[in-house]
Amino acid sequence: MITINKIHKSYVTGQNSLHVLKGIDLNIEAGEMISIMGASGSGKSTLLNILGILDNFDSGAYYLNGLKIDRLTERKAAQLRNKMLGFVFQSFNLVSFKNAMENVALPLYYQDVPRKKRNMIAMEYLERMGLKDWAHHLPNEMSGGQKQRVAIARALIGKPKVILADEPTGALDSTTSLEVMDLLHEINATGITVIIVTHELDIAKRTGKTIRITDGNITEIIKN
Ligand code: ADP
Ligand code: MG
Repeated sequence: MITINKIHKSYVTGQNSLHVLKGIDLNIEAGEMISIMGASGSGKSTLLNILGILDNFDSGAYYLNGLKIDRLTERKAAQLRNKMLGFVFQSFNLVSFKNAMENVALPLYYQDVPRKKRNMIAMEYLERMGLKDWAHHLPNEMSGGQKQRVAIARALIGKPKVILADEPTGALDSTTSLEVMDLLHEINATGITVIIVTHELDIAKRTGKTIRITDGNITEIIKN
C-alpha cells in the first residue's frame, strides 16, 4: 500500500537548514496496522505528513497504492487525499462552530455531495461511533473521547484505504485511549491500513508492528 525509499526532508528557515528525515525506507502492506514511535522532535509527524501528502520531501521515492507521489499540484494532492486517506490528530481538529454531524459531513461537502445526503451519511457514521445523540452538539460540549470519535467518523466518511493518526490518544486519559485504540482496531479489521504515531509504548504494543525513529532514521522494527 505504501512504499518509501530513501526519503530525505530538511526544513529551511532563513540561513538554517534542519535535516529531519535522513533516508527513511519503509514498506507497509495493505491491511497492516503499524505504529511509529520516537522521541519528541525525531521526525514522526514530518514522516506522517509526507505519507499524507500534506508535505513535500526533498529526495527519495514515495509510492501510494502503486502511484508515484512526486511534486503533485495541490489540486491533485487534495484529490488523492480525499480518495485514499483519512486523518486523525491529537487535537481532533474539529471545526468549533460546526456540530458533530456537520464536522463528520465536511469531506463530503468538498466532494459536492448535497447537504441532505451528506448529513444523512454523517448520521450513519455517528451512529457507528455510538454518538447519534450527540449529532447536534458542538465540539466544546463533548468530551475528548467523543471529539476523537467524531474525528474518526470524519476520517472514515470518504472511505479511505489508509488512516493516518498522529498521536490520536495523546490528549486522552488511559481508559479513553484504549477505547479509541479498540475503534482503530475495528477499522483495521474492515481492511483499512492504519498508521499510528505515538510515544506511548502500551499504545504501540497494540499494533502489529512498531517502527522506531531516532533522530530521523529508522533504528528498529519490532513485531508485536
Ligand atoms: P515529532 O513529531 O517526532 O515530534 P516533527 O516531525 O514534528 O517531530 O519535527 C521534527 C523536527 O523538525 C523538530 O526539530 C521540529 O522542530 C522541526 N520542524 C517540524 N516542522 C517544522 C517546520 N514546518 N519548519 C521548521 N522546522 C520544523
Ligand atoms: Mg509530532
